[in-house]
Amino acid sequence: MYGRLDCPSALMYLAKDQYKKHRIFFADEEKAVAAGFRPCAVCMREKYIEWKNNKAKV
Ligand SMILES: [Zn+2]
Repeated sequence: MYGRLDCPSALMYLAKDQYKKHRIFFADEEKAVAAGFRPCAVCMREKYIEWKNNKAKV
């Protein structure tokens, strides 16, 4: 999963100290998607819906 650095969901996980080790950074979105990550449903809602629709087609 990837998302914005200021994502409310990510901040919540960071507060719980569970997210850091899973957190990864990509230069751009395309690379993240290509690597098999999905957009965050919270901060990238539109992208997430788009991703979900694309996935449903395949
Ligand atoms: Zn997010």
